[in-house]
Amino acid sequence: MSTEHGIYSDGNWIESESGETFEVRNPADTDEVVGTYQSATSADAETAIEAAVAAQDEWASTPGPARGAILKETADILESRKEELTELLTAEEGKTHAEAGGEVQRAIDIFGYYAEKARDLGGTAKAASAENKQLYTKPEPLGTVSLITPWNYPIAIPAWKLAPALATGNTVVFKPASVAPGVSRALFEALDEAGLPNGVANYVTGSGSEIGSVFADHEDIDAVSFTGSTAVGTSVAQQAADDLKRVQCEMGGKNPTVVMPSGDLEMAVDSVATGAFGVTGQACTACSRAIVHEDVYDDFLDAIVDHAETLEVGDGSSGVDMGPHVTESELEETLEYVDVGIDDGATLETGGERLTGDDYDDGYFVEPTVFSDVTPEMRIAQEEVFGPVLAVISVSDFEEAVEVANGVDYGLSASIITQDLSEANHFVDDVEAGVAKVNEKTTGLELHVPFGGYKQSSTNTYREQGDAGLDFFTSTKTVYLN
Ligand code: NAP
Repeated sequence: MSTEHGIYSDGNWIESESGETFEVRNPADTDEVVGTYQSATSADAETAIEAAVAAQDEWASTPGPARGAILKETADILESRKEELTELLTAEEGKTHAEAGGEVQRAIDIFGYYAEKARDLGGTAKAASAENKQLYTKPEPLGTVSLITPWNYPIAIPAWKLAPALATGNTVVFKPASVAPGVSRALFEALDEAGLPNGVANYVTGSGSEIGSVFADHEDIDAVSFTGSTAVGTSVAQQAADDLKRVQCEMGGKNPTVVMPSGDLEMAVDSVATGAFGVTGQACTACSRAIVHEDVYDDFLDAIVDHAETLEVGDGSSGVDMGPHVTESELEETLEYVDVGIDDGATLETGGERLTGDDYDDGYFVEPTVFSDVTPEMRIAQEEVFGPVLAVISVSDFEEAVEVANGVDYGLSASIITQDLSEANHFVDDVEAGVAKVNEKTTGLELHVPFGGYKQSSTNTYREQGDAGLDFFTSTKTVYLN
């Protein structure tokens, strides 16, 4: 599978002027080099920005339906490559084949969705205050935008920024995460094949601190859409604020599922387990806290521990339930949090060990991990672990459950398992999260509704996906026609 890949700049696949490259290895089998990528420099980033700026007027004046036709063709090309991209995603990032297939399908669907949206970008007709006058609003593209994305959904997140940015007539410079830069390359290959004019979308691989900084800071960039950690997002937002760029940062989470006595226990265990251990816990919306009413605490704990122990961990391409961590440093961080949990006095019920031996090929595998006796102020109940580590917290009533759910710096996704409609309604009203769910897992959301967080999970100005995904990339012009 290993080949050397270029930067896509002004419609050409080229090498970096640095002459340097970096390798991406399979986290399930670290002997396998999945791809070799250009270590782009600031100069390469600036060249891509120049190309995007030069292409902007023409792309903005291309009729929406014509832009949409290119996005639709892109979706079709991606569909024809679905299995290949699924295998690539598993090889570079570690998701199971089923998880990777779902993510690739999401990227395809997003392009299909925004292809349709390009025909109808909004704008409203309003009644003017006198005869023979027209008053209406029209959305206009912002100009040239930069997109910076994380490794944990390496094709879906690029797609959910790229497709609305292009549908609305913006030109784009894009930087994927260096840990998994390969699968998003396919978006640019497909756009190229679908006839996207040169310079409209540019793909630049390389270091976050170098390329990401140029993309966040450059005077010709009109807006920055970032997804990643809260630490990096905060610095991106500060850089972008220097010249009042529009900025959107979607960041970390510490997502709770509240389990109430009236709730269906099996549903609670399934929802929490999928949220906590799905994609190896490496989701911004991962359920890392189960906040459980004391009346059902013991039953829930027994069941979730049993469930965690049945999960088969291994190479995502081999039909297992949970793949590896993406890198050794992510694995080590998870293992450090296991130590922190033990040191802080939580009880390690199951997991917590790296998996090694012949079956694991030096991959970055860790056991699904459950802690009980967790108190809300412990670090494993406060900080984003970004691994398959669940903190189970006991509460004595609904009010305490909501207080604990809200007692963190993050506010991305939250769910409750209950059959009590009043509890469900109060939870939806009171929980401080951008996504509130009832009888559902914290992960996953339909692509046509807004997605984003409260508190330190987001700059909380614009949402992504659905119509909200278009708002970030457009300015509203009010027109008064006499
Ligand atoms: P990260 O370390 O913050 O990196 C995100 C992106 O920023 C990468 O492309 C990275 O490039 C780049 N970057 C690094 N330093 C930069 C700088 N100084 N200026 C500009 N860009 C810079 O995050 P990650 O480890 O890839 O992803 C995991 C995090 O993303 C978690 O916290 C997770 O919760 C969050 N996330 C949030 C959402 C959401 O929608 N809320 C969705 C998914 C993930 P390099 O890779 O080259 O360093």
